[in-house]
Amino acid sequence: MLVGFTAGCTRMEKQVAYVQTDSIVYAVAETAPVHSPDSEDAADDPAIWVNYNDRENSLIIGTDKKAGLYVYDLKGNQKGFYPVGKVNNVDIRYGFPLGSGKKTDLVGASNRTDNSLVLLAIDPYTRTFTNLLPEKVFSSLTEVYGFSFYHDRKRNRYFAFVCAKDGNAEQWEIQPPIGEKTGMKLIRTFNFGSQTEGLVVDDDLGYLYAAEEDNCIWKIPADPEKDPLKTRIALSDSLNPRIKYDLEGLAIFKKNSKKGYLIASVQGNNTFAVFEREGENRYLGSFSVGKDVFDATEDTDGIDVTSEYLGEEFPYGMLVAQDGFNHNGDSLDSQNFKIIPWERVSALFSPNLERKGK
Ligand code: CA
Ligand code: CA
Ligand code: CA
Ligand code: CA
Ligand code: CA
Repeated sequence: MLVGFTAGCTRMEKQVAYVQTDSIVYAVAETAPVHSPDSEDAADDPAIWVNYNDRENSLIIGTDKKAGLYVYDLKGNQKGFYPVGKVNNVDIRYGFPLGSGKKTDLVGASNRTDNSLVLLAIDPYTRTFTNLLPEKVFSSLTEVYGFSFYHDRKRNRYFAFVCAKDGNAEQWEIQPPIGEKTGMKLIRTFNFGSQTEGLVVDDDLGYLYAAEEDNCIWKIPADPEKDPLKTRIALSDSLNPRIKYDLEGLAIFKKNSKKGYLIASVQGNNTFAVFEREGENRYLGSFSVGKDVFDATEDTDGIDVTSEYLGEEFPYGMLVAQDGFNHNGDSLDSQNFKIIPWERVSALFSPNLERKGK
């Protein structure tokens, strides 16, 4: 095959040579601890809801897998609690069209109380949630575990992926609503091989990423009409000395509709691995969240990241990471979530990782 000089050159120019200059960032805030006792592994997965009408009043939603969903402001203060069940992972999508002609943002979660899916609408003015499912949606997986939404923007269809500890996964479609209620329909099932939890979908590029905990990160087409052919992300496995299993939460930082980063929580060595979002998902480096004003982040399960401007304190968005050991002085409190401004992560590399902001 002939590759023209110009094409080859363009491809090379696009690949920035990042050098990692530091490997530790520090949190600027932490959320209130979850209410399950400090001896329990309870906090698990966060999701950032960007309030596009009032950025500073965006929310962090965090699961307590023994109790329900917590809601925090960007300073980490608890603003609400929804005892919806033993919700493990949580995700957000925007602009779901209700039957009434209104649109709503969605909160979804995997509920291990009764092996069901949770689907809530966010009221942007009161910043409160209401149930969208008049009838419970039960999964046929042995135990629901990971969860991610997928919004197919071209066809304006909304889906949810859920996976289990045996590696099985389901894709559900949220049904056209009647009034302000909806239902969900099972579209297809597939398998990742072994215990898989962290899921994230890149809506723009059309891929589901899944963290098979003791193996690697997989990438598959999110479109249910496409073959769920799995691609293994290079250096997301034990060939990379910076990866120590388990692989846990995944999140996507979006500079724009094409570029950005895929970030993975690497639980075995308390680090976060950064991959390019585009192309072959090149591995760029790893970092940890160290002890400074707040304690370090250890044994992290879920993470979320946004590139959106969230007010003057978070002009380039933030990374939120669950902390398995929430120390406060000499005491170990119940688990919580650490909040890190994106520019601190960005500055670990030269040139800096991309920023979006205002
Ligand atoms: Ca844990
Ligand atoms: Ca796990
Ligand atoms: Ca800690
Ligand atoms: Ca987990
Ligand atoms: Ca703390």
